[in-house]
Parts: sequence; C-alpha cells; structure tokens
Amino acid sequence: MKKIVAVSTLALLLAGCNPGDQEAQDNSKTEQANKSADEKATSDNEKSDAEVAKEKEAKEAAEAKKEAEAKKEAEAKAEAEKKAEEQAAADKKTADEKAAEEKAAADKSAEDKTTEEKSSDASSTEDKAEDKSTDKKEDGKTDSAQDPEPAKPSKPESETPDVDKSNTKADLSLGELVVVNKKYSLPIDYKPSDLVVPNVSFSYSGVLEQSYMRAPAAKQMEKMFADAKADGVTLNAVSGFRSGSRQTVLYNNYVARDGKAAADQYSARPGHSEHQTGLVFDISAPSVGNGLTAELGDTKEGKWIANNAAKYGFIVRYDRGFQSRTGYTYEPWHIRYVGVGPATQIKNNGQTLEEYMKVGH
Ligand SMILES: [Zn+2]
Repeated sequence: MKKIVAVSTLALLLAGCNPGDQEAQDNSKTEQANKSADEKATSDNEKSDAEVAKEKEAKEAAEAKKEAEAKKEAEAKAEAEKKAEEQAAADKKTADEKAAEEKAAADKSAEDKTTEEKSSDASSTEDKAEDKSTDKKEDGKTDSAQDPEPAKPSKPESETPDVDKSNTKADLSLGELVVVNKKYSLPIDYKPSDLVVPNVSFSYSGVLEQSYMRAPAAKQMEKMFADAKADGVTLNAVSGFRSGSRQTVLYNNYVARDGKAAADQYSARPGHSEHQTGLVFDISAPSVGNGLTAELGDTKEGKWIANNAAKYGFIVRYDRGFQSRTGYTYEPWHIRYVGVGPATQIKNNGQTLEEYMKVGH
C-alpha cells in the first residue's frame, strides 16, 4: 500500500503535479475557456457584423419589398384604371353596337313594312352616321355607327324616288375626279362598267355588290393593302360600290321610319352617295372590329391610312375637322380614289375634293 502511495507521489512529483498546478491547470482551463469565450465573443462580434450585414440586407430587402409592393400597387392601380378605361370603351362600343343593331333591326322592319326588296345593307348605317350628331362628332371622338355586317346583295330596283329633282348633275366626264356629294348627284341607274373585286382581304367572306370597285382604283387598293401588310398593318375592305337602287332602298327605309326631314339629316339621297362612283371603299381594321368608326383614326391602321393613302391615289374624303367643308363628319374609313397626283396635292394642301375641284358641296 505504501509503495503504491510512494509511486503515486513520485508520479505526481515527476509530473510536477501539485494542487497549484492543478489550479494552474484550472486557470489554464479558465483561460482557455476565456480564450474560447473571447473567440466566441470575437465570433459573436463577427457574427454581429454578419448580423448587421444580414439586418442591413433584410432592411434593404424589406425596403425593396416595400418598393416592389408600392410599384405593384401603382401598377395595380394603373391596371385598374386601364381596365376601367377599357371597360368604359367596351361599354361605349357595346352601346354603339347596340345602337347599330337596333338601327339594323329597325331598318329591317322598315324594309319588311315597305315590302320592297329585301336588302340588309352592309353600309346601311354609314350614310346615317355620316351626317348624324354633327356637333359632337366634329372632334372625331364620337363613333359613327358601325356598318352592319354585309348581308345579301340587293336585286335591281326599278323605282326612282321622287327626291331632290333640283340637284346638280355630277360631271362624269371628269372620270376619277368626279364629284358626288349633297349637291352633285349621279343618275340613279349609273353603274361603272369596269367594276371588279379587288384582291384584298375583306371583313366578310363571299362576294357582294359592295365588294366591287372600279378597276384602276382596285389595282391601287391592292398595292396599298399589300404595302400596309408589309408594314405590319392589317386592313380589311368593308364596303365599295353601292348602286343607286340600293341607296334608294336604304333612303326609303329611313324615310319610312323617321320621316324625310330626319332621313335627310343622316342619309345620302339616291344618286348622292359617293359609293355609287365605284371609286370609294370603306376600309377598317381588326383592331376596331372592322367597324366604320371614328376610333379607327386613332389606331395604327387609321394613321397608316391617313399617312399613306395618297401614295396610292386615295384621299380620306371626309377628314377630321372637314365637316363644314364637305358636309360630312369625320370618316377615317372612307377613302376615295382620285389618282396619285391629285391625291398628293389634296393631302399636301389640306384640301377637300370640292376645294381642289373648285365646286360646292
Ligand atoms: Zn363610305
């Protein structure tokens, strides 16, 4: 037993181990612990920096998020406003369409009543639109009623209505410069001999009376449509030639429904529609549902027409703000062929066809 103690003591001595050493060791441990704590503290400090960075990051992220939310909110607001505008436009369009539909229905009923030939005219409302609500449409913002979609071609109409006998005869010897307006009229049975269907896209399928146009004008219209397409502008032909007989049916329907005085306010009398020259086409674009509406003038397509039609010999016959000089409200869809030279001059001078030809309207 003693031996073991002696060995143990020796071992302690050899190892330099004493309670003090033990204490030192403990101190060392403490130091280590402290060091470790320091390290930890350092680490904590580092972590603290990291945390600061993290917090900064978080703050920035929060700010970014806030910003994004604000942006989103603004976007949502803008979107809502846009939607509201679109809705308003849609409502307006719907109202216009409804009005056009009602008118078409009324036209049809008038037609049935008068037992005249059945012809729901694709352009039946255009003339009506031409002269209606003159004041408010001067700014071009208010829609003209749309032409209803084309329907059946009409049969020849033998009757010549007893209207406007005092009117002045249009001078057909002027060829493509003939003026037909409220003052100058064509014989009711006048029909150009060179009518063809232009090879362009139409807003409807099939061939109707209104699909036709005089050959020289049709050729130019084909070029115009092709070049528009190349420019990324899609146009559709809606309504070209309209016979005197068809205009007669339309006009009589309006008279039967609204009375002559009222009908004269919005519809061309037989012989007075420029469509009868075969030099006119109403054109539109899918962007406005192929409607004959003043809205077209503010679209890419409408602007393209206004800027380029003259190169092909066409003028926007009833331009914006021309009402007092043509007798018709703004019709960005109604283009009239007059030939490249005259069209260019008319456009550059800001003239009407009447002014260019020095005749009245
Ligand atoms: Zn027209």
